[in-house]
Amino acid sequence: MRRSVIAASLLALLLALAAAAPAVAAAPGDGSRLPKWVKLENVRKHQKALDDIGAANGGTRQVGTPGYEISAKYVEKQITRDKELSEYYTVRRDPFDYNFYEQRGPSTLAQTQPDQVTYTEGATADYQTLTYSGSGDVTATAQAVDTTVADSGCEAADFAGFTAGRIALVKRGTCTFQVKAANAQAAGAVAVVIFNDGADPTRTGPVAGTLGRPFTIPVLGPSFALGSQLVTLAAAGTLQLHVVTNTLNEPRSSFNVLVESKAGAADNVVVVGAHLDSVPAGPGINDNGSGTATILEIAKQLPRLGNKVKNKVRFAFWGAEELGLLGSTAYVTELAGNGELANVALNLNFDMLGSPNFVRFVYDGDNSAFPPPASTPGPPGSGAIEKAFVDYFGGRGLQTDPTAFNGRSDYGPFIAQGVPAGGLFSGAEGVKTDEQAAVYGGSAGQAYDPCYHQACDTFSNNSDPGLDQLVDGAASVVEQYAYSTVTVNGAASRRAVAAAQARAAAGQAAPEFVGHLLQR
Ligand SMILES: [Zn+2]
Repeated sequence: MRRSVIAASLLALLLALAAAAPAVAAAPGDGSRLPKWVKLENVRKHQKALDDIGAANGGTRQVGTPGYEISAKYVEKQITRDKELSEYYTVRRDPFDYNFYEQRGPSTLAQTQPDQVTYTEGATADYQTLTYSGSGDVTATAQAVDTTVADSGCEAADFAGFTAGRIALVKRGTCTFQVKAANAQAAGAVAVVIFNDGADPTRTGPVAGTLGRPFTIPVLGPSFALGSQLVTLAAAGTLQLHVVTNTLNEPRSSFNVLVESKAGAADNVVVVGAHLDSVPAGPGINDNGSGTATILEIAKQLPRLGNKVKNKVRFAFWGAEELGLLGSTAYVTELAGNGELANVALNLNFDMLGSPNFVRFVYDGDNSAFPPPASTPGPPGSGAIEKAFVDYFGGRGLQTDPTAFNGRSDYGPFIAQGVPAGGLFSGAEGVKTDEQAAVYGGSAGQAYDPCYHQACDTFSNNSDPGLDQLVDGAASVVEQYAYSTVTVNGAASRRAVAAAQARAAAGQAAPEFVGHLLQR
């Protein structure tokens, strides 16, 4: 009896050892270890903390508010309060100046002639106020500007027949909101109304977006349906609108939080980024608490890889992304100016990984699925980064879908300067297709994230299985590049990066990128 107990125990022990031993020993840098150490429950804990910070600070973690400052402190303390982590990393704030924007009160959009109609403001109502709109209270005749074509208001010449003192009615499309509003203002418009163009199912509701810089006149964004009605009335020459906005635009300073490994090649830095700020409307726990929590937990586990890690890894928690990629742009501009950008091997970006109705999107770095102009030309090496993610998921039998490499998040400034980049994305306001629902489950015909940029983007706005998978993919690729970026920049040297930058300077990368919010 006793002997057989011992034999059974021994057998159990041997079986346990066999189960614990991997079939193939993990090779350094093969990307198999960090995904095991970066646990979903810890990522969710960081998201919970960020959700609590939002809830305690007016429901937002927008840059320039206490919610942002406390979010930054949370990230910093996760590193600095731990002896081992604080020895492994330097933690610093990278300051930048920016234009703060806040909507101080509700706007008004009303028809005063030929009828009296008051429209409703809101994400699911008639119109929204564009970020960086000026303040004002005007009543004037509305005049449509080339609204029968896609590039309505993109050229100054579009306003040749425009009467100064009127409200310009332009349609979204082709160029940025900023260009349309600037042309209207230059032509003497007292307010600008940029309505949605109905080009696809995501472009029918009220226009929400950033103008990228402050304006002095009010800028409102009606839905496609309302805009179309207004154009018809304007064509009859009888439309008069009342527009009121109450906004604050003022210069302020903020900061990115940089957590950088002390060891590793200083001339081949892997920059792993996620934006730390939310929109004003909500605490942003998917956008981008999910990316913030993911790279924070990766940073906490990375030291376990040991001292064979070759490259410096710099975790960047960007500020003011939601106002138009302002923190990352300031940082890249600074590094381009002082020559340090040549030391950046690549940029990985993680913005929205937990969307409830998720797709495993990988940035289309080689532009194969979304050729320009739908994408920005990927700097050399961006295709290799895309492949690293696709291969990771493919090795686990998980399909991925490409998503346009359009610079709509903090990798935009990097690729605009020729730095290769890549990343993951679980979907925002876009609508899931039947084909995607067949692969990923979830609901076809519904937004990937129904709470995108809204107050309901809280802790519960998440898919655990989706986030778990994307977190693992992120951790694996960070591990691989911490060891070697040879597949991305060849010689793994600043020379290769400099060559890529020279190609970018020769015009192979788009000089201008668009913001995270729908700017076009
Ligand atoms: Zn985001």
